[in-house]
Amino acid sequence: MSMSMFKKKTPEEPPEPFRRCTACETLRQECLNNCAYRHAFPPGKKKLEFQKIRDHKNLQQVHDALLTKSEVEQVDYIDSLLYEVNCRAKEPVGGCLTVMRHTADAIRESLSRDQDDAGGPSTGDDVMRD
Ligand SMILES: [Zn+2]
Repeated sequence: MSMSMFKKKTPEEPPEPFRRCTACETLRQECLNNCAYRHAFPPGKKKLEFQKIRDHKNLQQVHDALLTKSEVEQVDYIDSLLYEVNCRAKEPVGGCLTVMRHTADAIRESLSRDQDDAGGPSTGDDVMRD
């Protein structure tokens, strides 16, 4: 093997100072390169979101779940947890199920109002049929 392949060396850029991700910063712990939180909670971002999840979810379960997901899935997963937490704040008993029911009711009401305006049949049951 010739040594010529080692001659072209790109000039080394000075390493950027490694910042802890928002999760590790909040938890006051070391943030390693393979940190599970790092993609979902990049340094300096989503601090409030992380605090909500820390306060309302089992953080160990969240951490373990993040390890099983791709980076895209991690962001979706965190978004859906935040949706759950926000719904639970609005509806302490029923959570997101109650919020979705209210939304479905509102859609049904709105559609039936539109049918009334158009002079058509106004039974809300029509909405449920195909
Ligand atoms: Zn971290």
